[in-house]
Amino acid sequence: MKPISEQPGTSESGGSESPSGASPPPRLDLRAATGSGIFAYAEAPESVRPEIADRYGLYINGRFTDPTSSKRFTTINPANEETISEVAEANETDVDAAVRAARGALPAWSGLPGKERGKYLYRIARRIQERARELAVLETIDGGKPIKESRDVDIPLAAAHFFHHAGWADKLEYAFPGRAAKPVGVCGQIIPWNFPLLMAAWKIAPALACGNTVVLKPAETTPLTALRLAEICAEIGLPPGVVNVVTGAGATGSAIVDHPGIDKIAFTGSTEVGRLIARSVAPTNKRLTLELGGKSANIIFEDASIDQAVEGIVEGIYFNQGHVCCAGSRLFVQESVVARVVSKLRDRMSTLRVGDPLDKNTDIGAINSKAQLATIERYLESGSSEGAERHSFGSDLPAKGFFCRPTFFTGVQPSHSIAREEIFGPVLSVMTFRTPEEAIGRANNTPYGLAAGVWTDKGSKIFDTAKHLDAGVVWLNTYNKFDPTSPFGGFKESGFGREGGRHGLLAYLA
Ligand code: NAP
Ligand code: MG
Repeated sequence: MKPISEQPGTSESGGSESPSGASPPPRLDLRAATGSGIFAYAEAPESVRPEIADRYGLYINGRFTDPTSSKRFTTINPANEETISEVAEANETDVDAAVRAARGALPAWSGLPGKERGKYLYRIARRIQERARELAVLETIDGGKPIKESRDVDIPLAAAHFFHHAGWADKLEYAFPGRAAKPVGVCGQIIPWNFPLLMAAWKIAPALACGNTVVLKPAETTPLTALRLAEICAEIGLPPGVVNVVTGAGATGSAIVDHPGIDKIAFTGSTEVGRLIARSVAPTNKRLTLELGGKSANIIFEDASIDQAVEGIVEGIYFNQGHVCCAGSRLFVQESVVARVVSKLRDRMSTLRVGDPLDKNTDIGAINSKAQLATIERYLESGSSEGAERHSFGSDLPAKGFFCRPTFFTGVQPSHSIAREEIFGPVLSVMTFRTPEEAIGRANNTPYGLAAGVWTDKGSKIFDTAKHLDAGVVWLNTYNKFDPTSPFGGFKESGFGREGGRHGLLAYLA
């Protein structure tokens, strides 16, 4: 495949746009420069291939077992559409066995001194570090994300979550003085496909630190790293039943939600499924936390460092192919600098390399599934048909696999679907504002409230803007930075409850 740096950016209008009407300043033609080979990259494929079994069972009570129905489904590599492995489909009977195992393990696990529970968490963290390369490659093969992201972000952060919570396990009384720190009980945890191992770590680490036991269901398209984590739990001698991993589709998730033996549901996924879960849990005593979708605003003021902000825009929306719940998918740029920002964004995007996720130089890997690619393509069409101007970069996508050219739209109206609905792909809507008040009003004009970014040189403007944004996380002169010490979660239709930090422990304490 040709590196993207050698491919021209395209615009439906065919020319460079000037959304504010002002003529854009002259810019360095990076595409011409890269086309001449100055910055051409050679392929740098990751050489490690982890062992992958032909079929996987369910991890229940410390052992891998066959599903009672004998049903299995395949997980594929979205970068080449090849089958990687067959995975067990858990039905209600299997989920029941997992919940019973978790219930059985609860008294001994919650009765352990926190210091002892912490030791197990440390061991899991260390083992993730030791097996990091294998886990990173597996994550990339199963889900399509670029190896440099799974290697540098997903896996190190997953280990960091276990380290962080290992530290909390024996300090819970200090976290919440005056409150007896008791676990909630058996936790059903359901996670999406965009950060498979990391989401498993976000769920399992705080639950275990607080003395709970868990039944985890990874997403249907990305079950392999959660199953590796189950292997790690067995390897480090975690008592059987403390962590159970059941694979399957939505029906398996709903069997967990509906099981009467579950004390708490922790769900990360779409707002649509979150609503269904909230409805099922409402008439019960189950506790619930929901981490749902978003349509987050990234606000660039005229006094921001524009080069830095352009990096933040790219990091905000094209990281992980835009499969990020807190992606900065709505860009608000102060009118006076919009021509400069758009021009620099075009230059920057013409250097992004789309293609083989296992190539260490790849910036944008494969879309996670055929269905998700179809959804993104529908939004690309609706953006154009509703009247926005499309700018896509990169032309020669690999012949096989699910790939999408990174795109931004200018001339976007707040009423356009691409400005209102979560796309969960590499698609950015560029809009403008004149005053800080207008920026805040437009940023908050969404049913979601997960995250936001603010770019300015002025400290007072940063704090004043952040204070008025309805978002669980506000990044200041940066974007998409995650840390286990920092709570993450949303407002409005982005859900409720926090994960990470001291706040995240509350969800796992009775
Ligand atoms: P999804 O369809 O809601 O699926 C999430 C998980 O729920 C998957 O494991 C899925 O299984 C399972 N599931 C599906 N139907 C279910 C049901 N009726 N009952 C119980 N479980 C069910 O979401 P997705 O498309 O995988 O993930 C993308 C969404 O997640 C986006 O909206 C994104 O914003 C959100 N997200 C939010 C956060 C956050 O922290 N706020 C983080 C990451 C992603 P299958 O995989 O088999 O369908
Ligand atoms: Mg897969």
